[in-house]
Amino acid sequence: MSNIQALTGALQQSGMRITPQRVAICSLLAESHEHPTARQIYEQVKREYPSMALATVYNTLDTLVKLGAVNVLGHAGDDHVHYDADTEPHVNLACVSCHKIIDIPSDHVRHLDSEISAASGYKLLGARVLYYGLCPDCQGQPHNNLKTW
Ligand SMILES: [Zn+2]
Repeated sequence: MSNIQALTGALQQSGMRITPQRVAICSLLAESHEHPTARQIYEQVKREYPSMALATVYNTLDTLVKLGAVNVLGHAGDDHVHYDADTEPHVNLACVSCHKIIDIPSDHVRHLDSEISAASGYKLLGARVLYYGLCPDCQGQPHNNLKTW
């Protein structure tokens, strides 16, 4: 489970300067269960730090991803990359209609992780297990039944 200290600690280890803006990015990632995009993080942190640059969000996220502290989830049918600071093995489930992403804890994914690292000798930093579908709310909307993605 990632928390804000783990994230800022990772940045520090990589030699990045810990600015209040970067702390704000880390705390948003650690507290959010919304799997935010870089743009969403930027919009939120900018409210508190108007001088915030989108590039700072991107380079902070890039560093955290390379360190394995944050997972990149790819897009949820909305062409925007989503990020997840929960690096415990779990399944992400994305709704292709409203683009929300939820977490499903899974023992199978945990077993898969050990199987893969045993078979490959890799030190795994994270995993992306992303299922797509229509959430229960969106299934009720008739125009969604034939939606292609
Ligand atoms: Zn939905």
